[in-house]
This record gives sequence, C-alpha cells and structure tokens, in this order.
Amino acid sequence: MTGRADKRADAVVVGAGLTGLVAAVRLAGAAGPGRVLLLEAGGEPGGRSRTTDHDGFRLTLGPRALYRTTRDQLHALGVRVPAREPDLTTALALREGTLHPGYAAPGPLLRTRLLSPRERLAVARLLAFSRSRPSLVGTDAAEWLADRLPTERAREAAFALLRISTYTGRPEMIDANALATHFAEVRRGVGYVDGGWRTLIDALLARARALGVRLRTGTRVTGVEGGERPRITTADGQGIRTRSVVLAGLSQRAVGQFLGQSDPLDAGRPLHTACLDVALTRLPDPTCTLVIGVDEPLYLSVFSRTAHLAPAGGAVLHLARYDDGAGLGPTEVRKRLHHLLDLCQPGWREVLVHERFLPRITTMTAVPEARTGGLPGRPGMTVDAHPGVFVAGDWVGPRGLLANACVLSAAQAARAAAARL
Ligand SMILES: Cc1cc2nc3c(=O)[nH]c(=O)nc-3n(C[C@H](O)[C@H](O)[C@H](O)COP(=O)(O)OP(=O)(O)OC[C@H]3O[C@@H](n4cnc5c(N)ncnc54)[C@H](O)[C@@H]3O)c2cc1C
Repeated sequence: MTGRADKRADAVVVGAGLTGLVAAVRLAGAAGPGRVLLLEAGGEPGGRSRTTDHDGFRLTLGPRALYRTTRDQLHALGVRVPAREPDLTTALALREGTLHPGYAAPGPLLRTRLLSPRERLAVARLLAFSRSRPSLVGTDAAEWLADRLPTERAREAAFALLRISTYTGRPEMIDANALATHFAEVRRGVGYVDGGWRTLIDALLARARALGVRLRTGTRVTGVEGGERPRITTADGQGIRTRSVVLAGLSQRAVGQFLGQSDPLDAGRPLHTACLDVALTRLPDPTCTLVIGVDEPLYLSVFSRTAHLAPAGGAVLHLARYDDGAGLGPTEVRKRLHHLLDLCQPGWREVLVHERFLPRITTMTAVPEARTGGLPGRPGMTVDAHPGVFVAGDWVGPRGLLANACVLSAAQAARAAAARL
C-alpha cells in the first residue's frame, strides 16, 4: 500500500529489480536523501535476479555469470560483489549423446577432436578476435557465421559457445554485431557470485536504504503520465505526483500500455529459456562440472565448484535448455535436462535436496535483432510526448546485453531524471 507520505515524491522509480535498484541508488546519490520512492509490484525486491535459500543452498533463478561491465558499474556505486571466475579448461562437450573433452578455453579448442585442424583454427580466430563491428549491424549471426566459418560443423561448434553467453538458441535471431560485441565482453572474464545474485541485490538495497530511498513493495503501478509534474497511478487507485519517473525493468509492452501508446515499441522479440536449478548434499561425479551441448542447446554447470553457494560438501547446479525453436513442451524439456543430469551426475536423485524447474523464464526482454537494427536500433531512455518519464532495462539504449544493458541504461535514465529535480 502507498502511505500518505508517498503521495508526493521528487523522483519515483518503478520496478525494484536490478535496473530499478541501480537507478534508485544513482538518483538518490545525485538528489540527496529522502527524495526517491521505489515502487515494486511484488512482495520483495530482486525481480528476475532473486535467489532462494533451501537449508543453506542458494539457488538463483537460473544460471548467472557476472560480466565486468556490471561489476564495474556496481563498484562505482560502492557495491563490491564477491565473484570468482569459473575454470573453463575442464568443460566437457556433449555431442550425439556422448560426453567429449570440451573446447571452451583456447588451449582445449586448439586440441579438440570434434573439429579438423582447419575448423579449429577458424573457430579460434573468430572467437579470439570477435569485437564490436558496426559494419555487421543489420546482419544476423547465422549469416555472419556462414561467412566466417568453413563448415556446418565449425559453425555449430562456435555457436555452442556463443549461445551460452547470450542465451540465444537461434543464430538467425540475434544481430551479429550485438553477438560479437557481447563475446568480447565475455572474454574479459565472468564471475560466479558467492551467495548467488541475491548478494548483489541485498548490497544494492542496503546502499539504497543508506541513501534514504523509500521502498514500497506490493505496489503495482497501472498508469504513468508525463509532463511538468508527472503523475503515477497505482492499482489501489492512488495517485502520486512527482518531478521525474524511471520505468525500470518493465517490458516494452508494459511501458507502451502505461503510456497509452497505440503503436508499441518493437525492440526485438523476447527470449525465454528453460532452467533447472538443483541442490545436492554431495556431487556424485566431481569430474563432470561443466557441460556444453554442441548439437543440442543444453548446458550444465556446478556453480558451487566456483562460488560459495552450498553448505560444506554440498553442490548447487544450474542446467538450461536454450530455445532453438524446436517447440518442445515443458515435460519433454525437463526429461532432457534430467537425462543430462543422469549422464553427468549418476545417482543424483539419492542426494537431492531441492529441484526447481523454470520452463520458460525471460532471459532477455527483447533480443537485438538484425531486423530491428541491433544495439544501435534499440529504443532510447526518453519517451516522446511524456516529458519527465524515462525508461531503463535490458532492451533500452545502445550498449550491452543482459545485466550490462540494465546497469548502463539505469545510469543514463537516473542522470536524466536527476537533472529535473
Ligand atoms: C535465467 C536467467 C539467466 C540470466 N543470466 C544472466 C547472466 O548470466 N548474465 C547477465 O548479465 N544477465 C543474466 N540474466 C539477465 C539479468 O538477470 C536481467 O537482465 C536482470 O535481472 C533484469 O533486471 P530488471 O530489473 O531489468 O528486470 P526484472 O528483474 O524483471 O525486474 C523488474 C521488476 O519490476 C517489477 N514490476 C513489473 N511491473 C511493475 C509494475 N507495474 N509496478 C511496479 N513494479 C513492477 C517486477 O515485479 C520486478 O521486480 C539472466 C536472466 C535470467 C532470467
């Protein structure tokens, strides 16, 4: 419920996921204490970055790798995140139902028997030198791989690695420049976070509180009107007057509906992934800790091998099946993920503490597609006809994918919102 004191606020941030928390901390830092109100529809903050606790086992909603850009942006806000780099040299590759030595790190890639010497070199070169290439904007990744790699086998092997960093199971769905730019970011190193992503949500929340941000959970915003003094309406019929609003982490459809736009923004199609989060009292096979599917878009990683996520001796695993357009139902997808667990960790059912299947979680609100102009084609943070209303999230602004886009667009939107105070 919105309290009497919240009928006015200098600035309002809608949505308390990663984007909203970063926007609120930045806004409060610029505006001073007590001036920012953060509204969240759910019962707790965190959104898609929530982590649940099961007898000391920390399960985030699906696998999560923290990229350098996100980490640096959080550091700039005084939020230090304990994250550790996973070892990719021991990865295994799953092809035709059999596990093989993998090729996720440069050394193993140059030795893999899954590819010919010519194919290995071509894939290694593509991955080692991928970086932002504006000339690729408007080309889809399938065309790009076909142009750069000599065989279908090489393309499949390269995309298996690119897929796990973007969650995109269909190369024709993502703009080649967006993919290449993101892979350059992945090469800078990724971190698995101690305690799961709740660690960074909790740290941001503490920072927001220290800066005097007022958080109201259980408050769904149903309408927003821009102007000299923007107005927000909540589901319980309350109106809040403010000077600037940041809509943080909402889908482009929701933003369009709030603002009464008849022509919703088209930032690209949403991306969904099936995830299986598993807690075990012990790991049946300590040698099988990272599996990357080559001919089927599957993934398994023992996150607790790298980060502190489980009590002593226990293990936390994240599995995923990326959407490749095959149209498999949830029962079949779950069966395939269980089969992967049987293959990698036989006997896992006897040591199971908790299992959570997420058949269709939104990993990216809108994929930067070739047809929508890739990263530079994404919508900006201002909204025509609604002065004082700013937008941030994983589909906003010309930089970054996934959480990187959240924190970068949140910073931009907060700066613009603060300028009106
Ligand atoms: C399975 C999975 C794996 C991922 N892996 C990675 C990864 O490895 N690396 C990476 O960088 N990123 C990853 N991501 C992406 C990253 O987690 C998200 O981009 C990020 O968490 C999105 O945060 P957000 O605040 O923009 O949106 P959300 O987390 O969705 O938060 C939006 C918030 O707004 C609230 N809200 C919605 N509507 C209203 C309303 N009308 N009124 C008030 N509140 C409202 C919601 O309740 C929610 O709390 C992954 C995502 C998923 C799902």
